[in-house]
Amino acid sequence: MYRRPIFAANWKMNKGPSETQDFVKSFLQKITDRPSADIVIAAPFLCLPTLSESLREAGGIEMAAQNCSQFDDGAYTGEISVKMLREVLVRHVIIGHSERRSIFGETNAIINAKLKKAREVNLKLIFCIGETLEERNAGQLESILSSQITEGLAGLTTDDLDHTVIAYEPVWAIGTGVTATAQQAQDAHAYVRSVVASIYGDDIAQKIRIQYGGSVKPNNAAELMACPDIDGALIGGASLEPQSFSDIIHNGCAPA
Ligand code: PEP
Repeated sequence: MYRRPIFAANWKMNKGPSETQDFVKSFLQKITDRPSADIVIAAPFLCLPTLSESLREAGGIEMAAQNCSQFDDGAYTGEISVKMLREVLVRHVIIGHSERRSIFGETNAIINAKLKKAREVNLKLIFCIGETLEERNAGQLESILSSQITEGLAGLTTDDLDHTVIAYEPVWAIGTGVTATAQQAQDAHAYVRSVVASIYGDDIAQKIRIQYGGSVKPNNAAELMACPDIDGALIGGASLEPQSFSDIIHNGCAPA
C-alpha cells in the first residue's frame, strides 16, 4: 500500500522567533520543487506564531508542537493546552518523545492522557516510542515497544489512528550520531505495524505511517526510507539547518 512519506523537524529547545524566520526563508528557497511528502516543523511553543506567519504564503508545510498538557486549563503553571495550540493554527503534536519520558518522567499513562486530550481538539498525533540500549541488549525490544503502543494508545479509536503517525525512535540513536541499520529499523517498524494490526486490524496497520527517528542525516535518509515499513523521518539535529533538512527530504523521496 502507498503511504505518503512524512518528514518532521523536531527543533527541541533550539531557535527563537527571529531564527525561525531566517530558517523558513532559507528552507523555502531550497524546497521549491516540493517532493511528494508531508513536511512538518515542530518548533518551540514561543516560535509557533512566527512560524505560522512565515509559512502562510508558502502553504503546504504544517506546524507541530513538541508537547501539550493532558489538562484542559487552570492551575498548571508552565503548561500549554491543546486549545491554545489550535488557536495558533498548530495541526500536529509530538507526544511521548524519549526526552519527555526520560527527563520529565512521562509514563505511558501520562502519554495516553495527552494523546487523548490532543484528539479532543482534532490535533494530529506524532506518537513516539522506542527502546533504550539496555532494553535492546536485554532482549526486551518487542516487549517494550508492545507495552508503549498498547498502553499509549489505550482507548484511542480507529478514527484517532487515522490521524496518528507513530515515530519509532531507538533512544540509543537519538542525538548520538549512531543510526540504527536499515535492517534494525525495518525489523522494528514491521514489529510496530504487527502490534497495531493486533489491536486495530490489518487495514489500519497498513495505512498508518511509521517514521524512523535517530540520527537521520542526508547521507543515510535514502537507505532508511527505502525500507518497506519506513514512511518518513522525525529529525532532530539535522533539521536545524535548512540545507540538511531539505537534503534529507529530497534524498528520502528519491527512488531507491
Ligand atoms: C529526535 O529528537 O526526535 C531525534 C531523532 O533527534 P536526532 O535526529 O538528533 O537524533
